[in-house]
Amino acid sequence: MQALSVPQPWAWAIARGHKGILNRASNTGYRGPVAIYASFRANLGSCDRPMARAAAWDPADPVAAIGGIVAVVSLAGVCAAAASGRPCRCGEWASAGKYHWRLVDPRPLQWPVMALGHPGLWELTPVVAAGVARLLLGQAAAAVPRDATRTAPGEARRPAPSRPSARHRRRAVHPLRRPN
Ligand SMILES: [Zn+2]
Repeated sequence: MQALSVPQPWAWAIARGHKGILNRASNTGYRGPVAIYASFRANLGSCDRPMARAAAWDPADPVAAIGGIVAVVSLAGVCAAAASGRPCRCGEWASAGKYHWRLVDPRPLQWPVMALGHPGLWELTPVVAAGVARLLLGQAAAAVPRDATRTAPGEARRPAPSRPSARHRRRAVHPLRRPN
Protein backbone atom coordinates (compact mmCIF):
# COMPACT_ATOMS: atom_id res chain seq x y z
CA MET A 1 0.00 0.00 0.00
CA GLN A 2 1.16 3.53 -0.82
CA ALA A 3 1.51 6.12 1.95
CA LEU A 4 1.79 9.87 2.34
CA SER A 5 3.44 11.73 5.21
CA VAL A 6 1.30 14.54 6.56
CA PRO A 7 2.07 16.68 9.64
CA GLN A 8 -0.48 17.09 12.40
CA PRO A 9 -3.04 18.55 12.75
CA TRP A 10 -3.67 17.91 9.06
CA ALA A 11 -3.31 14.11 9.26
CA TRP A 12 -6.00 14.20 11.94
CA ALA A 13 -8.22 16.49 9.82
CA ILE A 14 -7.88 14.09 6.85
CA ALA A 15 -8.53 11.01 9.01
CA ARG A 16 -11.67 12.53 10.50
CA GLY A 17 -13.00 13.58 7.10
CA HIS A 18 -12.70 17.34 7.62
CA LYS A 19 -9.97 17.89 5.04
CA GLY A 20 -10.43 16.31 1.60
CA ILE A 21 -7.65 18.20 -0.17
CA LEU A 22 -3.93 17.64 0.27
CA ASN A 23 -1.75 20.45 -1.14
CA ARG A 24 1.37 19.05 -2.81
CA ALA A 25 4.14 20.57 -4.88
CA SER A 26 3.97 17.76 -7.45
CA ASN A 27 1.40 15.83 -9.48
CA THR A 28 0.89 12.06 -9.52
CA GLY A 29 -0.77 9.56 -11.80
CA TYR A 30 -1.43 7.21 -8.91
CA ARG A 31 -5.06 6.58 -7.90
CA GLY A 32 -6.24 4.29 -5.16
CA PRO A 33 -5.76 3.58 -1.46
CA VAL A 34 -3.25 5.70 0.45
CA ALA A 35 -2.21 5.31 4.08
CA ILE A 36 -1.95 8.64 5.91
CA TYR A 37 1.23 8.76 7.99
CA ALA A 38 1.30 11.42 10.72
CA SER A 39 4.82 12.83 10.55
CA PHE A 40 7.00 13.07 13.65
CA ARG A 41 7.32 16.78 13.13
CA ALA A 42 3.91 18.29 13.85
CA ASN A 43 2.79 21.71 12.72
CA LEU A 44 1.28 22.55 16.08
CA GLY A 45 1.10 26.25 15.30
CA SER A 46 -1.62 25.31 12.83
CA CYS A 47 -3.80 23.81 15.56
CA ASP A 48 -4.89 27.34 16.44
CA ARG A 49 -5.77 28.22 12.87
CA PRO A 50 -9.48 28.87 12.39
CA MET A 51 -9.91 25.84 10.10
CA ALA A 52 -8.41 23.43 12.63
CA ARG A 53 -10.42 24.96 15.44
CA ALA A 54 -13.60 24.89 13.39
CA ALA A 55 -13.02 21.17 12.77
CA ALA A 56 -12.77 20.71 16.58
CA TRP A 57 -9.11 19.62 16.71
CA ASP A 58 -8.80 17.05 19.51
CA PRO A 59 -5.25 16.24 20.66
CA ALA A 60 -6.62 13.29 22.71
CA ASP A 61 -7.96 11.59 19.55
CA PRO A 62 -5.88 8.46 18.65
CA VAL A 63 -5.57 9.76 15.08
CA ALA A 64 -3.96 12.94 16.45
CA ALA A 65 -0.83 10.90 17.24
CA ILE A 66 2.53 11.36 15.51
CA GLY A 67 4.89 8.78 14.03
CA GLY A 68 2.29 6.31 12.78
CA ILE A 69 -0.31 5.45 10.18
CA VAL A 70 -3.57 7.00 11.41
CA ALA A 71 -5.94 6.41 8.48
CA VAL A 72 -6.41 4.98 5.01
CA VAL A 73 -8.01 7.15 2.32
CA SER A 74 -8.51 6.89 -1.43
CA LEU A 75 -6.70 9.25 -3.79
CA ALA A 76 -9.50 9.99 -6.25
CA GLY A 77 -7.86 12.63 -8.44
CA VAL A 78 -5.54 15.62 -8.68
CA CYS A 79 -6.57 19.17 -9.58
CA ALA A 80 -3.73 20.89 -11.45
CA ALA A 81 -5.49 24.22 -12.04
CA ALA A 82 -3.98 26.16 -9.13
CA ALA A 83 -0.48 24.89 -9.92
CA SER A 84 -0.70 26.72 -13.25
CA GLY A 85 -2.29 29.80 -11.74
CA ARG A 86 -5.87 29.06 -12.76
CA PRO A 87 -8.88 29.23 -10.41
CA CYS A 88 -10.57 26.05 -9.16
CA ARG A 89 -13.34 25.00 -6.83
CA CYS A 90 -11.38 22.81 -4.44
CA GLY A 91 -12.59 24.73 -1.42
CA GLU A 92 -11.12 26.29 1.69
CA TRP A 93 -8.42 23.63 2.26
CA ALA A 94 -6.84 24.22 -1.16
CA SER A 95 -3.71 26.40 -1.40
CA ALA A 96 -2.73 28.64 -4.32
CA GLY A 97 0.08 27.39 -6.53
CA LYS A 98 -0.23 23.76 -5.40
CA TYR A 99 -1.57 20.53 -6.85
CA HIS A 100 -4.75 19.59 -5.03
CA TRP A 101 -4.79 15.86 -4.29
CA ARG A 102 -8.42 14.86 -3.73
CA LEU A 103 -8.80 12.39 -0.86
CA VAL A 104 -12.08 10.52 -0.34
CA ASP A 105 -13.43 7.68 1.81
CA PRO A 106 -11.34 8.30 4.96
CA ARG A 107 -11.07 5.29 7.25
CA PRO A 108 -9.51 6.35 10.57
CA LEU A 109 -7.67 3.62 12.46
CA GLN A 110 -8.60 2.90 16.08
CA TRP A 111 -4.99 3.42 17.07
CA PRO A 112 -1.88 4.39 15.09
CA VAL A 113 0.37 1.82 13.43
CA MET A 114 3.94 2.88 14.12
CA ALA A 115 6.14 3.40 11.07
CA LEU A 116 9.02 5.46 9.74
CA GLY A 117 7.88 8.03 7.21
CA HIS A 118 9.40 9.09 3.90
CA PRO A 119 8.87 12.01 1.52
CA GLY A 120 6.52 11.76 -1.45
CA LEU A 121 4.42 8.68 -2.09
CA TRP A 122 6.12 5.74 -0.39
CA GLU A 123 5.39 2.07 0.06
CA LEU A 124 4.53 0.63 3.48
CA THR A 125 6.80 -2.16 4.69
CA PRO A 126 5.04 -5.57 4.70
CA VAL A 127 4.86 -5.57 8.53
CA VAL A 128 3.29 -2.11 8.71
CA ALA A 129 0.92 -2.91 5.83
CA ALA A 130 -0.16 -6.08 7.65
CA GLY A 131 -0.83 -4.08 10.84
CA VAL A 132 -2.93 -1.55 8.93
CA ALA A 133 -4.84 -4.35 7.15
CA ARG A 134 -5.50 -6.11 10.45
CA LEU A 135 -6.98 -2.95 12.01
CA LEU A 136 -9.14 -2.24 8.95
CA LEU A 137 -10.36 -5.84 8.97
CA GLY A 138 -11.19 -5.68 12.68
CA GLN A 139 -13.13 -2.46 12.16
CA ALA A 140 -15.00 -3.99 9.21
CA ALA A 141 -15.84 -7.08 11.28
CA ALA A 142 -17.14 -4.89 14.11
CA ALA A 143 -19.46 -3.24 11.58
CA VAL A 144 -20.81 -6.53 10.18
CA PRO A 145 -23.79 -6.98 12.56
CA ARG A 146 -25.30 -3.84 11.05
CA ASP A 147 -25.45 -5.63 7.68
CA ALA A 148 -26.55 -8.88 9.33
CA THR A 149 -29.81 -7.21 10.35
CA ARG A 150 -30.75 -6.86 6.67
CA THR A 151 -33.18 -9.46 5.40
CA ALA A 152 -31.57 -11.95 3.08
CA PRO A 153 -33.41 -12.92 -0.13
CA GLY A 154 -35.85 -15.75 0.59
CA GLU A 155 -36.23 -14.70 4.20
CA ALA A 156 -38.49 -11.76 3.48
CA ARG A 157 -41.46 -13.16 5.42
CA ARG A 158 -39.54 -14.17 8.51
CA PRO A 159 -40.69 -11.96 11.41
CA ALA A 160 -38.11 -9.57 12.80
CA PRO A 161 -36.61 -10.67 16.14
CA SER A 162 -38.22 -8.83 19.02
CA ARG A 163 -34.96 -8.49 20.94
CA PRO A 164 -31.34 -8.03 19.88
CA SER A 165 -29.65 -11.16 18.58
CA ALA A 166 -26.75 -12.77 20.40
CA ARG A 167 -24.51 -11.27 17.74
CA HIS A 168 -25.68 -7.79 18.65
CA ARG A 169 -25.15 -8.36 22.34
CA ARG A 170 -21.65 -9.59 21.64
CA ARG A 171 -20.97 -6.51 19.56
CA ALA A 172 -21.92 -4.28 22.46
CA VAL A 173 -18.83 -5.41 24.35
CA HIS A 174 -16.55 -5.91 21.35
CA PRO A 175 -13.13 -4.55 22.35
CA LEU A 176 -12.53 -3.06 18.91
CA ARG A 177 -15.71 -1.05 18.92
CA ARG A 178 -15.20 2.70 18.66
CA PRO A 179 -16.23 4.49 21.84
CA ASN A 180 -18.91 6.71 20.36
ZN1 LIG B 1 -8.05 22.74 -7.21
